[in-house]
Formats: sequence, C-alpha cells, structure tokens
Amino acid sequence: MARIFSGIQPSGELHIGNYLGAVKNWVALQHEQESFFCIVNYHAITVPYTPEELRRRTREMAISLLASGLDPARAAIFVQSDVPEHTELAWIFNTITPLGELERQVQFKDKSSKQEQVMAGLLNYPVLQAADILLYRADIVPVGEDQVQHLELSRVVARNWNARFSPDAPYFPEPQPRLTPTRRIVGLDGQAKMSKSLGNTISLLDPPTVVWDKLRPAVTDPARLRKTDPGEPERCKTIYQLHRAFSPAAVVAEVETKCRGAQWGCIECKQVLHEHLTAELAPIQERAAVLAAEPERVDALLADGAHRARAVARETMTTVRDRMGLA
Ligand code: ADP
Repeated sequence: MARIFSGIQPSGELHIGNYLGAVKNWVALQHEQESFFCIVNYHAITVPYTPEELRRRTREMAISLLASGLDPARAAIFVQSDVPEHTELAWIFNTITPLGELERQVQFKDKSSKQEQVMAGLLNYPVLQAADILLYRADIVPVGEDQVQHLELSRVVARNWNARFSPDAPYFPEPQPRLTPTRRIVGLDGQAKMSKSLGNTISLLDPPTVVWDKLRPAVTDPARLRKTDPGEPERCKTIYQLHRAFSPAAVVAEVETKCRGAQWGCIECKQVLHEHLTAELAPIQERAAVLAAEPERVDALLADGAHRARAVARETMTTVRDRMGLA
C-alpha cells in the first residue's frame, strides 16, 4: 500500500482551485491508500500574519476539509505544529540542501518580490515541505501543478539524504506528484492561477449570491465584445474551465455550441454555470455549518489526527537520528 501526504495552508478560505486541483483527489485517494492530510500552519507564518487570525483560519480550514469529504476514520487530518517532528526534520534537511536549489524556485522568486524584507523562512519553505512529506515516507503527493517544482526538490532532498546516510537501501522514497485533470484553475481575472493571495477566488463556503457577484464580472473570451460575436470557449479561461469541472457533459457540449454560434451571451452561460457550481457546493456548505457549531468536536478530531500522525513521525525520527549519529 502506497502512502499519501498532502498539505494546505490555513492562510485563507479553501477555494475552488484548491478543491479541484488537490482536495477532490484527497477525498478519492483516502479510500485507496494510507493518507495523511496536514494543515500547514508553519508554512503560513513565512509571510506577515496576525496570530488570532491564524488560529481562527486553522480551524476554519479543518472545517472546510472535513465538509469537503475528508474522513477522519480513513485519513489522519491534523495541524502541522501539533507534530513538532516536522520542524526537526526540516532543520536536518537544511543541512543537506544546496542553496542554489532553493534560490531557483519560482514561488520564492514570486513571493519574495512582493515583500519589503525577505525572511529566511520563505527561502527554506520547500525544505520544510520536503520534511512534511518524507516524515511519513510518502510515495504519492496529490497537489496542483504549482507544487510540482517544490516536489522535485523533495526528491533531491530524499536522494541526498539516502546517498549520505542510507546508501545501501534508500530509506526515503522519492515522492511523486499526483495531479487532477484540473491541475491549474485560473482565477476570476482570467489570467493568474486562482490563489488566496491574489483575491481572484471563489470560496467553497461562498453563498450562492456571493458566487454570482463574483461570476458576473469574471473575464471571459477577451475577443468577444458583443453578444452577437461568436466566442471561442478555449479563450474563455475561467468560465469554460469551470463548466468542464462542475457541469454535466451534455451542458458542456451545449456551452461549446452556443458560445461558438453566438446563441448565448456570456451572462446566460454564467447563469448555467452558477446553477451547477452552487449545486455541488450546497452539501459541502451544509456540512460546514454543522461542524462550525461544534468547535470542540473539530478540535478533538484534529487532536486524534495529530496523535496518529505523530506515531509515524516518531518512528521516522528514531531512524533518522540513529543513522546520523544524533542518538
Ligand atoms: P494557495 O495557492 O491558494 O495559497 P496552497 O498553496 O495552500 O493554496 O495550495 C493548496 C493546494 O491547492 C496545493 O496542492 C496547490 O497545488 C493546490 N492549488 C492551489 N491553487 C490552485 C489552482 N489555482 N489550481 C489548482 N490547484 C491549486
């Protein structure tokens, strides 16, 4: 049986990009493999934040994940800082990771260009990520496309550590990404990836009226200026992509025909999307409302998840310390 690990930052609401790119896969894979899903709060503190908000968002993220279908009876669902072995292994991996490997990471270049002062934690973020994954000796990491480069670094770290401390039989597996068919969801601006930090998202918990307020002005085919102009669905980055993710196949076919034939305006097309999107979100939102009313239950589920994760983490660290002469 392969092991699965994946993480998500509690830096904002769970949006449909996270859901389609990663979380939907987590829900499916938890039935097949031994799974560990982590709310990575140590990653969320690499950029400015407020402690109170972080605490609130951590619990909100747990609620959204559980409401999306993660099942604590099948997967360990936990908060990163409840398992201190993550940071211990990250320090160890820092000592075997070449600086050049970190400096060329696209996300570091992106995020650091937006900060006045760049902290070392932002540069070392993928090292902590390697520790998150390898602590559980995970083989498969279900993520969105934006994480594929980071995962390459996790493989370099695994290889470096194995070469130095476990040359005969590799102790750490080299983890592989598992992508969904919707590996990169474009934001409502029709350009950048949908991302919490860019404010171009639809949250899983947005009520139908808010979803509509966001969909209505969303960018469509930029070449289609009037309702009577024939459109090109492939140029409509967001709405067409979301139709393919949320609408039944027959509706997607209708969208293609009516867009190309200028039989539908973009607003009509968006209304149909709204109907199918909100139908998928409705049961998630109902479950989230029930969980939000029971914070103690959510905390207990997270504590149990951390307990199970920590048993595996301790085992790994015993071997790592032993092989490295630290014990
Ligand atoms: P964000 O980029 O919004 O801050 P995270 O970095 O916490 O989100 O990512 C959580 C998971 O969601 C990762 O597996 C990531 O690859 C995936 N993900 C994030 N944004 C998108 C997107 N726009 N399309 C597909 N997957 C995404």
